[in-house]
Amino acid sequence: MTAEELLLLVEKYSAKNYLPLPVVLARGKGVWVYDVEGNRYMDMLSSYSALNQGHRHPKIIRNLKKQLDRLTLTSRAFHNDQFGPFCQYLCGLAGQEQVLLMNTGAEAVETAIKAARKWGYQKKGVEKDKAEIIVCENNFHGRTTTIVGFSSEPQYREDFGPFSTGFRIIPYDNIEALQQAIFPNTVGFLVEPIQGEAGVIVPKPGFLAQAQEICQANKVLLMLDEIQTGLGRTGKMFCYEYDNIKPDILIIGKALGGGCIPVSGMLASTEIMSVFRPGDHGSTFGGNPLACAIGKAALEVIVEEQLPRRAFENGVYFIEKLRQIKSRHFKEIRGRGLLIGVELKESSGPARPFCERLMKKGILAKETHQQVVRFAPPLVVSKEELDWALERIESVFVE
Ligand SMILES: *Cc1c(COP(=O)(O)O)cnc(C)c1O
Repeated sequence: MTAEELLLLVEKYSAKNYLPLPVVLARGKGVWVYDVEGNRYMDMLSSYSALNQGHRHPKIIRNLKKQLDRLTLTSRAFHNDQFGPFCQYLCGLAGQEQVLLMNTGAEAVETAIKAARKWGYQKKGVEKDKAEIIVCENNFHGRTTTIVGFSSEPQYREDFGPFSTGFRIIPYDNIEALQQAIFPNTVGFLVEPIQGEAGVIVPKPGFLAQAQEICQANKVLLMLDEIQTGLGRTGKMFCYEYDNIKPDILIIGKALGGGCIPVSGMLASTEIMSVFRPGDHGSTFGGNPLACAIGKAALEVIVEEQLPRRAFENGVYFIEKLRQIKSRHFKEIRGRGLLIGVELKESSGPARPFCERLMKKGILAKETHQQVVRFAPPLVVSKEELDWALERIESVFVE
């Protein structure tokens, strides 16, 4: 079928909850994808950082195929031989004692919310049904009704209510606001180390360290959503390492699935995790043997290929080169590692037409929040490939 015919099927049969660029992809390898006509593009979105290891990484695909021929699903009603080793490897890597495996990022966030509330009632002595979690303006934690209920983005919420209570919204990167928002019934502070969907908003250095201090002083759990920033993306295995801290609750997903299937998890100490008793929480697919085999390979690739270090070095290089492009459209270039946002001036109009022009030059990037183009290629990208992209980016923004 041609691209036009395939787009017509989508138009007719799919819900319109996305507005994709008009490209129909058929194959992918590493940082490259190919459309149905065979045109090549560099993937500079990486499925919102779910493809840190690149498309179809050989080791991940090898492990996936091996597991496909053995066992794919057991549910947690029974044990499977992939589950324990994956949990052990993941906990070791993250410096946490235990993990609760789920599938999508939003599910792991929901799990963290449940854990923090139950911990609040059972360990902090918060009055029944009064637990409160602090979140930030412009947060993105997923799309469930509970999560969009504490979003500050009107479109995410509109006509999806009524919403669940127990959340207090404060400005991002504002320590005084955090201090003032804490009450005896506060159980957690849920925050992204860098706000990705908000347009790659990087907080001031030391923000997380100060937040941790305040949380500890008030017996409030620091809950970090590293679904997008974690697993090498920002130039460290976890973005919180920049502040030399460790969260009480760590939430990861996206690249944990190695670009193949959804794998997510919530990690914490045994003390926190022990609030979950058999039957309290669950997921039919969470921790399935296929997910565990893929997840372990996905993590091993990040470690073996030193993807955090490469993201750090290539990120410094890429940002520096972007800043050398003299474009009248650029307002600000910011980011860490290979999570980079280029904010365009209001006078240049929205970012979308620029993304369409980038697409015609062979670069797939996506606008976020109207004025920002996000550049987040797979972390396996080489300097030469970045140079290839920079040439084309320059030709779109300097004309
Ligand atoms: C993508 C994302 C989520 C949601 O993950 P899904 O797998 O789409 O449910 C949550 N938090 C952050 C920071 C994300 O980037």
